Amino acid sequence: MTNDLTRLSAADLAAHLVSGEVSSVEATQAHLDRIGDVDTAVHAFLHVSTEDALATARDIDSRRAAGEDLHPLAGVPIAVKDVVVTKGLPTTAGSKILKDWIPPYDATLVERIRAAGLPILGKTNMDEFAMGSSTEHSAYGNTHNPWDLDRIPGGSGGGSAAAVAAYEAPLAIGTDTGGSIRQPGAVTGTVGVKPTYGGVSRYGLIAMASSLDQAGPVTRTVLDSALLHELIGGHDPRDSTSINEDLPLLVDAARQGAIGDLRGLRVGVVSELSGEGYQEGVSARFAESLDLLRSLGAEIIEVSCPHFKYALGAYYLIMPSEASSNLAKFDGMRFGLRVEPEDGPITAERVMSATRGQGFGDEVKRRIILGTYALSAGYYDAYYGSAQKVRTLIQRDFDAAFAQADVLVSPTAPTTAFKFGEKLDDPLAMYLNDVATIPANLAGVPGMSLPNGLSDDGLPVGFQILAPAKADDRLYRVGAALEAALENTWGGPLLAKAPELEVAR
Ligand code: GLN
Repeated sequence: MTNDLTRLSAADLAAHLVSGEVSSVEATQAHLDRIGDVDTAVHAFLHVSTEDALATARDIDSRRAAGEDLHPLAGVPIAVKDVVVTKGLPTTAGSKILKDWIPPYDATLVERIRAAGLPILGKTNMDEFAMGSSTEHSAYGNTHNPWDLDRIPGGSGGGSAAAVAAYEAPLAIGTDTGGSIRQPGAVTGTVGVKPTYGGVSRYGLIAMASSLDQAGPVTRTVLDSALLHELIGGHDPRDSTSINEDLPLLVDAARQGAIGDLRGLRVGVVSELSGEGYQEGVSARFAESLDLLRSLGAEIIEVSCPHFKYALGAYYLIMPSEASSNLAKFDGMRFGLRVEPEDGPITAERVMSATRGQGFGDEVKRRIILGTYALSAGYYDAYYGSAQKVRTLIQRDFDAAFAQADVLVSPTAPTTAFKFGEKLDDPLAMYLNDVATIPANLAGVPGMSLPNGLSDDGLPVGFQILAPAKADDRLYRVGAALEAALENTWGGPLLAKAPELEVAR
């Protein structure tokens, strides 16, 4: 029984908890055991919060026994990306500069998770400050893709995706600035959603690029993402960019979608997000899913977004610019690492320089330098200013496309998971992994990646769905319909095809 609990979706596990068949302590312990069994090999977690998780589980079990009215996900364990601050639990953002930092407060989304009674299993590995597409830029070692331990799990949220794919957690939190929820989802065979910008509070996320960052769910099913999205989403007065409106009904949309009737829905295939650079198996699976959508009654049309070809260039000016100013606060003076120069006077400037020199990794330094340069007097208009103009053009492309289609679709990532080290010496090759995911961040629109089968190399590929801002429900309707149709053709979930991980005991 213990082992089986880790295979259940969050929705199914929640049903077992409600019926009283299973306690939250049992469910939480089963996942902690699974972490003990496989995480030496996977390394999805930077910190496992055993005591904290079991305390929550015990509390929920006794409140349930007392007949209290609980949140539908109460007692279902969850993993949280290490860029989200958690009171009393270490939070490093994958960086040495925050080693051993214990935040004195919770992010809003963590407050909501705790209030609903979800035991927090631990904090997941990530590229340092969420900069990367492979989790190889973590200061704490690589996370391994459960499909093939010699390969990357995507990034920056490789830890959350790998934890969910390896059955170490049924739910996880990710963050997505340019694709860090969706691309790891694609290469690990999991579901990931980047909500509409402003849909989930950013209060308590360690900011990378504030105008692009969004937190969202990482799960094994579309319905589970909807359940988690509804829990963490909605207005927060502590985030000035938070949308002050009710969320659309996401769980309802997922349940409706699963019925599999997409008649009347117009699906736009973005012609700029296919073709050259996309692996053959990725394109083939994508085309097959379009046929499936057609068979469910959707109308498939081609749309053009001519400025998407400049998205990557604009992103790699805007993101580093914002990151360079957001990361200025890590100076060795207030919290985290402090390094004093080995010789010479101990001045504030020299301590800052030594701290930042040793505390930040190469990719973070590269982006701080890029961003500082793009913002410097004399270059500001040419670089940052032009990038902002491109951003507007991309937003207009989306507006035009959504006038023709209810949702837009593309492959999530151009390739399957690559091997460790393959792109480490070539930052541009690494950046290119996000060509299909970045436009949504620049425009603030929501996006989902869901498992779309295996490429010729036997590794998972993702299907991306994009919707207009504040219409996140469309992702769930279409995603649940496609998921059901795909699982019908596979005879079950895609993850059932993943090799069993060797257990360490
Ligand atoms: N891979 C992209 C980058 O390196 C996206 C990162 C993210 O979404 N956090 O910037």
